[in-house]
Amino acid sequence: MNNVENKTVIITGASSGIGKATAMKLANNGANVVLAARRKDLLEEITTTINENGGTAVYKVTDVTNAHQMEELASFASEKFGKIDVLINNAGVMPLSELKNRKIHEWDLMVDVNIKGVLYGIYAVLPYMREQNNGHIINLSSIAGHIVFPGSAVYCATKSAVRSISEGLRLEESSDSNIRSTIISPGSILTELSKHITDQEQKNAINQIEESVGIEPENIAEAIYYAINQPEEVGVNEILVRPTRQQL
Ligand code: NAD
Repeated sequence: MNNVENKTVIITGASSGIGKATAMKLANNGANVVLAARRKDLLEEITTTINENGGTAVYKVTDVTNAHQMEELASFASEKFGKIDVLINNAGVMPLSELKNRKIHEWDLMVDVNIKGVLYGIYAVLPYMREQNNGHIINLSSIAGHIVFPGSAVYCATKSAVRSISEGLRLEESSDSNIRSTIISPGSILTELSKHITDQEQKNAINQIEESVGIEPENIAEAIYYAINQPEEVGVNEILVRPTRQQL
């Protein structure tokens, strides 16, 4: 069974980590992948690697916090491949800190990228998918969307919002326009995500967890592949993937 082949899949935050691993996995299985992120050099490198290995990939520099750029991304994907089958709202940031430290710019950034970015993605592709009467939107939440940790209040709030938005999307669109909605909730994954934490205490704590239990982004790419690969009448609504040794 391969329900991935020939699908047009847009992936945000595709320049590293889970987004990059997912782009490689889906392209290896015959999807036409549209990579979106802000770092042009990395997007170019990944696209070239995929195309040299017999896959099909294009990229567009996109900031998910800009609704207009997200619309341009959707229109680019549709023009290139004639349809948009899947959007993976993967771009995210996690500058953890306790509320008392009042890092208001980092709170704004998390709200802008993790919540508004996901909404802008939905905003951009929904007209195409409704017109097609078919589509699949996959949103990256987290174990942090299920449990709140000290130092993670804002991040957890954004990931919890992602779950609510995904479930609302499913309720509104699944029976109406055949659009599948999937939440992917990973545990500790070895990516760049924690490198941008400015609060040293939080950074040390996360690094310790990563060093002791962290698993590779390719493990999450497998879960995303699984969700897309199901027959069209099967909606995988949420997948939680923790490292075996991660307790919370
Ligand atoms: P990552 O930092 O490697 O990837 C995130 C990507 O998003 C990066 O390429 C980054 O440049 C991009 N990005 C950030 N802001 C952007 C913007 N405004 N516009 C476009 N792209 C932007 O980390 P990752 O772990 O691969 O993260 C992917 C997703 O998985 C995120 O949503 C993250 O919250 C989620 N997640 C990660 C973990 C983990 O442990 N790594 C756990 C749970 C959930």
